[in-house]
Amino acid sequence: MNALLDTITVSAEKGRPIVDAASGEQIGYAPVHSVADLDAAVAAAAAAQPAWAALSSDERAAALRAAADEVDAHAEELAQIIAREQGKPLNGAGARFEAAGCAVWLRSAADTVLEPEVLFEAEGTRSEMHYVPLGVVGAISPWTWPALIAIWQIAPALRVGNTVVAKPSEYTPLSVLAVIELVSRHVPKDVLIGISGDREVGARLAEHPDIAKLMFTGSTRTGREIVKSSANNLARLTLELGGNDAGIVLPGADAAEIAEKLFWGIFINTGQTCAALKRLYVHDSVYDDVVAELAKLAETVPMGPGTDENSALGPLSTDQQFGIVSRLVDDARQRGARIVTGGEAAPELGPRFYRTTIVADIADGAALVDEEQFGPVVPVIRYSDIDEAVRLANASSQALGASVWGDPGEARKLADRIEAGTVWINQHGTLNPAVPFGGVKSSGYGLEFGAHGMKGLTAPKVITT
Ligand code: NAD
Repeated sequence: MNALLDTITVSAEKGRPIVDAASGEQIGYAPVHSVADLDAAVAAAAAAQPAWAALSSDERAAALRAAADEVDAHAEELAQIIAREQGKPLNGAGARFEAAGCAVWLRSAADTVLEPEVLFEAEGTRSEMHYVPLGVVGAISPWTWPALIAIWQIAPALRVGNTVVAKPSEYTPLSVLAVIELVSRHVPKDVLIGISGDREVGARLAEHPDIAKLMFTGSTRTGREIVKSSANNLARLTLELGGNDAGIVLPGADAAEIAEKLFWGIFINTGQTCAALKRLYVHDSVYDDVVAELAKLAETVPMGPGTDENSALGPLSTDQQFGIVSRLVDDARQRGARIVTGGEAAPELGPRFYRTTIVADIADGAALVDEEQFGPVVPVIRYSDIDEAVRLANASSQALGASVWGDPGEARKLADRIEAGTVWINQHGTLNPAVPFGGVKSSGYGLEFGAHGMKGLTAPKVITT
């Protein structure tokens, strides 16, 4: 019924069972590659790289555009795999949006051209900066937006003439292998290789002596391990790590007007998004209204299996994540925080569902505020002094994104004082393939997207005549 799924799954003896995140029902078997397979893949990618780099920029762009068309042609099959394996609903900013986004980012990479830059020209001397490929790029992705994040890493790497070995999360290999299969149909053999293995395969890829660059998106803890590996192979790194994004609602904000955007800034992908809003600071004067508006949405936005056309929110993707969310909410309750809505599992929907939860009357110091919850729950913290709200927003070691809500002029002024890779005003988490994205502090370093991101996949080379 799903030809793309049939292409990438393997027999039971060769694979690991992958289940539907909502029901636990088996979807198929994903290949499990070994460290030896990984070594062979890096060698093959290294052998394929010079010929790929020797193609013209226009030829590589054409290949990526053809890959984007292929993704569009198989978008529904890809979306069905994502909706089942990862669990996000098909509609809204869900699995169909993720599948379509893969094509959008492939085309954006194709359209981005890194021209040489003249750095100096005088007295008969001319210095130019050229952006040349690095060699083999390793790409390690998480289970959150599996296909899209893999494409964020793969598309710009291929565009500039690198070859890529991509390692999906062990929780979502099928979504990534599916999109790799579609792109691979339009690039020469071994230019893009998917290796689906366990964590030790990821570790080997990070430390491999023959990779020139590692694109990593995942937890801060794994990011630290990767930095250690890079001491040996000196691979360049782009690290997109964890986030605990703060949102600040200013006095005078209209709770009813901002509620829907605020809700989806928090609960996109059922909260399992790096740059989702994870701590909400609301001024005393509008606190009760904001909490009430969010609770209204939390109680009415439908939650259900990813493949149900009516679902807008889905299950937690993994048992581990379900455990983290339950622990953080229980801890908040024990500390005396107010569970406005939700606060418990929803077993009638399936084993990994947790009700959309708004937690009020909670403060920094509670684990739910200080840690990345990564699920359908948000702590709403009351403040009365804007300087205090800024201090608390900046107190986290994680600094991927942040947002300010209310009068646009006042919000813009405050944006300058907030430490984060991106500060959004009256929105949160919106991404654009032309606009760079990345974190600061322990949310990582390096940028993705646009020309800025693409430069990170090249070696800058100066030619002086
Ligand atoms: P994770 O760190 O557990 O795993 C990420 C990937 O690293 C997986 O493919 C895993 O197999 C691999 N891996 C594990 N150990 C490794 C090692 N020692 N060396 C190399 N690779 C290894 O993260 P996760 O739980 O899959 O993802 C959730 C986290 O990702 C959250 O913290 C989230 O905020 C973050 N994230 C960040 C961004 C961003 O753009 N900044 C985007 C999405 C998710």
